[in-house]
Amino acid sequence: MSASILVVGSVAFDSLKTPFGEAEEILGGSATYFSVAASYFSPIRLVAVVGSDFPDKHREVFRKHHIDTGGLVQVEGKTFRWKGEYGYDLNEARTLDTQLNVFEKFKPVIPKSYHDSDYVFLGNIDPELQLSVLEQIRRPRIVAFDSMNFWIRGKLEAVKKTIRHVDILIINDAETRMLANEPNLVRAAKRIQEMGPKTLIVKRGEYGVLMFNGTSVFGAPAFPLENVYDPTGAGDSFAGGFMGALAQFNEIDERAFRRCIIFGSVMASFNVEQFGLQRLSSLDRKQIDDRFCEFKALTHFDV
Ligand code: AMP
Repeated sequence: MSASILVVGSVAFDSLKTPFGEAEEILGGSATYFSVAASYFSPIRLVAVVGSDFPDKHREVFRKHHIDTGGLVQVEGKTFRWKGEYGYDLNEARTLDTQLNVFEKFKPVIPKSYHDSDYVFLGNIDPELQLSVLEQIRRPRIVAFDSMNFWIRGKLEAVKKTIRHVDILIINDAETRMLANEPNLVRAAKRIQEMGPKTLIVKRGEYGVLMFNGTSVFGAPAFPLENVYDPTGAGDSFAGGFMGALAQFNEIDERAFRRCIIFGSVMASFNVEQFGLQRLSSLDRKQIDDRFCEFKALTHFDV
C-alpha cells in the first residue's frame, strides 16, 4: 500500500513570461507543483499558507487531486507572489520579483494526523520553516529537500543546518555549485554529501538529472519534446513524481531510486508542455505509465 507524503513549500501566485506566452497571477508554488505531480502515485498532505486573496477556485485543483489540505492555512494578508522570466533556452528562470507576504510570519503547525508521515518533502521555502517541520514530527523513513538560490544566498547557515537532517537533496546544478562553493559538479556533490545527505539528485533542466547515491552515480536524460512551453515547476514536478513513486512502491534502495528518477522525469516532461499547471493537472495514470515505457526505450542499449 502506498505511504503518505507530507509536503511543505510555497503556494503562490506566479506571473510568468516565456518566449511563447505570458500569464499573470496564476496558481503556482513549489508545494503546488509537487503535490499535483505526486498525487498520481500516493496520498499527499499539504502544509502551507495562503492569504485572504486566495480564491476558492484554486482549492478546487487540490480537491480534484485528493490532496489533503488540512495543513493549508489561510490568514489575513496577501498570498506569496513570484515573478519570473525565461529566455529562448528555457533552462534558467530569471527572478524579477519575490514577495514573501504571508510567508514572512508563517510558523507551520503540523496537524497531529500528519505526524506519522513516512515520507517528507521539504519544498522550496525558508530553510528555518523546513527545519521546524522536522522538529514537530516523528522520524520519517525518508526526508527529501529542495531549495533555490534565493535561500542559499540569503540564509546559507540555515540551509546547511537543515540539510544535516535530510536523506535526499533534490536541487539544480547552479544551486549545487553555489551550496558547495565549488564549480566542478562531481566535487560539489561530494562536498554536499559530507554535509549530511547520502543522496543528491542534481536537476539539469533539458539535460536531465544526475544522482549521486553513496559512491554510485546514475544519469538520466530529459524526455525529448517537440513542444516546451513553460518550464516553471519542472523541478517540483520532478520531485513530486520521484517522491510519489518512491512512496507508492515503498522500497528504498538504489534500484528504486533509479526507477523513481524516471517517474520524476516523466512528470517534469508533462509539466513543461503547457503553461502553469494545465498539463500536469489533467493527466491520467495510463499516460504516465506509457511515457515511462517510452523512457525505457529511449535509454536502452546493449553491451
Ligand atoms: P521550479 O520551476 O520547479 O524551480 O519552481 C517554481 C516555483 O517556485 C514557482 O511556482 C514559484 O512560485 C516558486 N518559488 C519561486 N521562488 C521562491 C522562493 N524564494 N521561495 C519559495 N518558492 C518560490
